[in-house]
Amino acid sequence: MEISGKTKLVGIFGDPVDHTISPAMHNAAFEALGLDMAYVPFHVRKSPATDLKTAVNAIRALNLCGVNVTIPHKEKVLKYLDEVDPDAKAAGAVNTIVNRNGKLVGYNTDGPGYLLSLKEDIGFTVRGKRIVILGAGGAARAILRSALEKRPASIVVANRTLKRAEDLIREFEASYPVVMKAVGLLDSAIAQDLNNASLVVNTTSIGMKGTGAPDVPLEALPRGSIVSDIVYVPLETAFLNAAKARGLRVHYGLSMLVRQGALTFELWTGKKAPVEVMQRAALAALNLK
Ligand code: NAP
Repeated sequence: MEISGKTKLVGIFGDPVDHTISPAMHNAAFEALGLDMAYVPFHVRKSPATDLKTAVNAIRALNLCGVNVTIPHKEKVLKYLDEVDPDAKAAGAVNTIVNRNGKLVGYNTDGPGYLLSLKEDIGFTVRGKRIVILGAGGAARAILRSALEKRPASIVVANRTLKRAEDLIREFEASYPVVMKAVGLLDSAIAQDLNNASLVVNTTSIGMKGTGAPDVPLEALPRGSIVSDIVYVPLETAFLNAAKARGLRVHYGLSMLVRQGALTFELWTGKKAPVEVMQRAALAALNLK
């Protein structure tokens, strides 16, 4: 990559930001398509809180094409933007900002990226299916909202803090003709929900860096159902390994990461993302290939 006076810049705001593999994915994609663009990490501290506002204003001042936004800024950033896409507004979080001639527009590609990865990478579509989501945090909310748009038969949200799952369901249930239910993550009743589920997805942070697996009875799942984990470090989480040991199909967190990145790339460049290039770069950045 050669930086010149014409190079257009994008980046990522986060705290911490040093472990992100997004620069590797996007820079590989820019190079593959011969785009004079570069992606850099920006460590925007959580506190003082004014730093985020200053950083968002700097997108205009420095004429960046846009940025990704990651933990802990995804929710707080909404109030500093000129416009927020309806999907991102409903998800309550922005992971991508596009600078349209000084107008900053927020998007969320996490939910759509997740569904795209299910469809493109393992041929799974949500319509009419029974789904169990483990977790009720930011990623769960984005996935829930995108999934509801595709009219599944039912969605169960299971969370350690039951109230958080209940609040999430309450927020969406009036707007969608989908059966929804909240349960505790360790509630034994979850076995009945898994019994006829086509997809169970772990959106909790359990399993990150190899720390355990959600304690749910995978043996209750019917044959042919899919076990998905959005945690991508390690790639093969204990949850996915347990699913494989039971002969269930699995879907990887890296697949979501690459697809949300691809959608972001398309928002910034208007060009079709080279998904395989991005996937290879992500694996290399994780020292997996
Ligand atoms: P978050 O908003 O902080 O939510 C964390 C969730 O994990 C909550 O439901 C929380 O339950 C649960 N949790 C945390 N520790 C737990 C434990 N020890 N036992 C049971 N439940 C626990 O985080 P997030 O932004 O949704 O991210 C969640 C995970 O998804 C992270 O690992 C993140 O790296 C990953 N992620 C991956 C992608 C991708 O592209 N593949 C995209 C986004 C996020 P409580 O409500 O009870 O605290």
